[in-house]
Amino acid sequence: MATIDSILAEVDRAADEIVQFTVDLIRMPTINPPGDEYESCARFLGNHLRQRRFDVEYIVADGRPEHTARHPRVNVVASRRGGGGPVVHLNGHIDVVPPGDGWTLDPFAGVVRDGRIFGRGVCDMKAGLAAAVYAAEAIARAGVVLPGTLEISGTVDEESGGFAGVAWLAEQGRIAKGRTDYVIIPEPLNVDRISVGHRGVYWFELTLVGRMAHGSMPFLGVSAIDGMTEVLAAIRRELEPALAGRLTSMPVVPEAARHATINVNAIEGGQPIAGIQSPCVADRCRAIFDRRFLIEETFGRAKAEMDALVKRALSTVPGVEHEIRDLMVVDPVQTPHDSPVVSAVERAIGRVLDRQATLVASPGTYDHKHVARIAGIPHCIAYGPGELELAHQPDESCRIDDLVNATKVLALATLDLMGAGR
Ligand SMILES: [Zn+2]
Repeated sequence: MATIDSILAEVDRAADEIVQFTVDLIRMPTINPPGDEYESCARFLGNHLRQRRFDVEYIVADGRPEHTARHPRVNVVASRRGGGGPVVHLNGHIDVVPPGDGWTLDPFAGVVRDGRIFGRGVCDMKAGLAAAVYAAEAIARAGVVLPGTLEISGTVDEESGGFAGVAWLAEQGRIAKGRTDYVIIPEPLNVDRISVGHRGVYWFELTLVGRMAHGSMPFLGVSAIDGMTEVLAAIRRELEPALAGRLTSMPVVPEAARHATINVNAIEGGQPIAGIQSPCVADRCRAIFDRRFLIEETFGRAKAEMDALVKRALSTVPGVEHEIRDLMVVDPVQTPHDSPVVSAVERAIGRVLDRQATLVASPGTYDHKHVARIAGIPHCIAYGPGELELAHQPDESCRIDDLVNATKVLALATLDLMGAGR
């Protein structure tokens, strides 16, 4: 009890430092794509943690094509060993999406105003990284010896799939079942919500090939664009209502994402629109689709359904050939209901915020998938400061009181998972 109170007091005392640390992180524009400033950001985190008696390693994804001399993929993993208890790993991604338009302030200045910190990536998820670092720091300042091992990692490329980041660490065995007991990812999900997983993702490219002919006599050719029109119409007419009728038992937020969905990411066909035009029937048309599937659907069924729909739609346009190429498949993940990591964070939220935590699942995916699938660790959740809806928006911001409270929750949950401070 006294231990908990002194840890909470240390977080409060460190509030200005936590804000400053977050601001320092925002001022490093770790924009992805292409993957700017990764090395300096990883070193900044590593140096900070080394000064706080962590052992620090830099793990470079030197087998990945996106790791280049210009844009090195450098991850940092720091660990502080206490007693022989469980290993708790707090993982945050250091990359941020490009700022885009619509900002009313400098996205990389780290402006602090009206009880909030502003900047690209503050909510997703540099505030979360700062919370992880200062959760560890508050435990140390309170004079508490860790009953287990605390690890903090800063990893790259989450926004583009995480293959050189968490997936790489998992493939190298650095995050692994048998070595790592619990993983908490401080992604922004609102300060009283715990994410226990996400829906599945199926990205695929559909290429249609017709036959070219003179544009003044289109009846002599086969238009691939006509074929794509039929496919899109069938998606609108048949697939979308079917997907809207499917509901997952997972607590996906927002509510509308509790159904399966499909989105057309890109489409191109015929001659390049910017080029000089000649009269030709379009013999090629390509589109990229983003199908989000539910844990109840399975990937196999989602793919078979798509194959059948494309064939049916194209049967009305004789002569169009088609090919489907899978670009990315991510199965849904779900933390077991009785996982100790869920109950520890629930208890900590109750203690710090005096509120019942809400369990949610993410509409998109995040690095949880690599922890669950590659590392084989079931006990992973996402919990962190920041409002989910502000991620990737212009004037992205994070409330300072959320940041401080999330730091407290992470500190208490970490100790709880190591068997202390309950
Ligand atoms: Zn994120």
